[in-house]
Amino acid sequence: MSHRPRKRFGQNFLHDPIVIRKIVDAIDPQPGDHLVEIGPGQAALTIPLLERVGRMEAIEIDRDLVPVVQERCAPYGELSLHNVDALKFDFRSLKTDDRALRVVGNLPYNISTPILFHLLQSREVIADMHFMLQKEVVERMAAGPGSKIYGRLSVMLQAWCEVTRLFDIGPGAFNPPPKVDSSIVRLVPRPDEEVAIDDPEGFAKLVRLAFAQRRKTLRNNLKPLMDGEQISALGIDPGVRPETLSVADFKLLAAGL
Ligand code: SAM
Repeated sequence: MSHRPRKRFGQNFLHDPIVIRKIVDAIDPQPGDHLVEIGPGQAALTIPLLERVGRMEAIEIDRDLVPVVQERCAPYGELSLHNVDALKFDFRSLKTDDRALRVVGNLPYNISTPILFHLLQSREVIADMHFMLQKEVVERMAAGPGSKIYGRLSVMLQAWCEVTRLFDIGPGAFNPPPKVDSSIVRLVPRPDEEVAIDDPEGFAKLVRLAFAQRRKTLRNNLKPLMDGEQISALGIDPGVRPETLSVADFKLLAAGL
């Protein structure tokens, strides 16, 4: 069965066996793991994953790929395929026993940030996540304070998850080759007591506002929420730029709301 890659679904299919092997080794699936793949495509990752775990789930938006994936995977194990939009899918509905989900995917670049935020909503049922994303996005996800690329994405993800950039992959590993480099990233949700954020919505709002205008000071950006005196009272200099604050500083500010 052949399938022409669809641009609107961000379809760049992996074909390099060495790269595929490296990704699967990084995920290190074990028999019995509750694995969920987002966007199996033509099953380049699904087959070697299924070989290791025996049964798994996948979520694919393109209905034309459903028979392709099912046919290719049948000899390797039991695949439960959900033909839905991962952005609208309730990942919590997949947890039916005490096993937390291990989510993986070579994600379409156009939905990468929304899908990360969507998955954060279900973090309590997720053990870990491994994604292939645009290299520049992974750099922003893992960036630390003081860096030009440290921003809302870095703080929001690092507050809830341990974020580790694993390795890079060039365009030649895909068909068709994308215009950008890619990286593999690992996210491990932190336990609630380590996160220590009482009001997740308040925290998200504060971080969004803090980075609304990167060139402005914290005092200016946070004006709708708190004044300079309140910021100083928390031991934080209101005259600094938002990118100089650590994730712990943002938690401190949110706790002071
Ligand atoms: N995993 C395959 C591989 O590595 O070769 C395909 C990766 S391709 C970059 C992204 C896949 O995600 C495609 O199969 C695409 O149809 C699917 N996809 C795109 N948007 C999606 C969405 N919102 N929900 C679920 N799957 C989606």
